[in-house]
Amino acid sequence: MGSTKQGQAPFGYRWQGGQLRLNEQEAATRRTAFDLFISLRSKSAVARALNDQKQFTRSGKDWSDVQIGRILECSSAIGRYEINRTAVGDDGKRMATGSAARSVVACEPIVTQKVWSRTADILRAKRTARKADPEVTLAGLVRCRCGIQMSHSAERAEFRCSKCATTLGLDDLEAIFSGDFGETLKAHPQLSLGLVGDSEAGQIMARIAHLEVSLSEFETERAAAEKMFAVGAVTRQRFAQLQQPAEEGIARTQKELSALKRELAGTPTAKDPPSWEDFWRGLPPERRIRIIRAFVDQFTVGEGEIEIAYLIPDAETAEDTVEPRTMPVAPHSVKTDGPVYIRLPKPGELCAYTGLSRAKMNELILANARNNFRPPVASKSLRQPGQQRGVRLILLESLMSYLHSTG
Ligand SMILES: [Zn+2]
Repeated sequence: MGSTKQGQAPFGYRWQGGQLRLNEQEAATRRTAFDLFISLRSKSAVARALNDQKQFTRSGKDWSDVQIGRILECSSAIGRYEINRTAVGDDGKRMATGSAARSVVACEPIVTQKVWSRTADILRAKRTARKADPEVTLAGLVRCRCGIQMSHSAERAEFRCSKCATTLGLDDLEAIFSGDFGETLKAHPQLSLGLVGDSEAGQIMARIAHLEVSLSEFETERAAAEKMFAVGAVTRQRFAQLQQPAEEGIARTQKELSALKRELAGTPTAKDPPSWEDFWRGLPPERRIRIIRAFVDQFTVGEGEIEIAYLIPDAETAEDTVEPRTMPVAPHSVKTDGPVYIRLPKPGELCAYTGLSRAKMNELILANARNNFRPPVASKSLRQPGQQRGVRLILLESLMSYLHSTG
């Protein structure tokens, strides 16, 4: 391996007679770096993993995140090595050159175009997130149970409470949302069809969901005004002042809603949509964040439980009564990649995963005297804003590990 007039060969290659040839050992390490990055989404985590596996740099040293960035971003990985990408300027600083100064040497690719694009997407999303564009982060949506808004670190891809030091990884938050929202979608086949099958329809659905939330807010305002008038708390004149904007809002929102629903009816929907899980995994990170922002009002992070307040009216009251008609979401199976969360069995039935009764499971997930008010199994409740009752979801992994621990 070595440098020639062309400079040092990119990692994974060596110069031979003016051409770049694969260095198999380095190429294997570089390929592993791409695979690791796609699953770990962090340059420093890749560096650590490679160092742990004793796959070192060309000079036999530990990898740094900066070096990992270089081998992930250099297009030699897909067979195009650009020479003179940077040059030292008059001020002695190294800077990017214009395209005229560059030349390209073709070489044998190390990764597929698919792996390259996926990596580029993640890198781009991380750069965008670092700029803290509120549109592509979940900052402001995550609250700690102690009441404090959790601060978002794009660099570490996590949320942290400054008061009680609770942290939550962005990946974990996304995984919980995805598992949970997949369940929520079962009660909303239309929504799921729109999201999964057809993005145009999906956008209309999202607007409908938002408008339905405003509609219920106007209705609440109107009901509050009527109640105050009924108990004599306001004069007739004041009542009219309160009631009128609510009435107008209801009329306007209903009109917009019916227009959108007509528009939706005319939108072609996909015949055979993919499963929610596949769809979600295939999305670029920015799009995932936008979907979360469109449907989630607030995450509340507690110890071993996360509460998600959705912006979809009746998202879970429907679950006990409505049988899903179309089910683009694949049925769950119990494997290691099975559901993150499960629901309680119906009264009189046993849990399909554990064989436990509803009462026994309730005992494990709810604080009570028998568990000294510290439930051994993690769960979370899903409650709509303004609703009394929520659906409690049980963290399957937590339940399983509890059952294993008690034999
Ligand atoms: Zn806190």
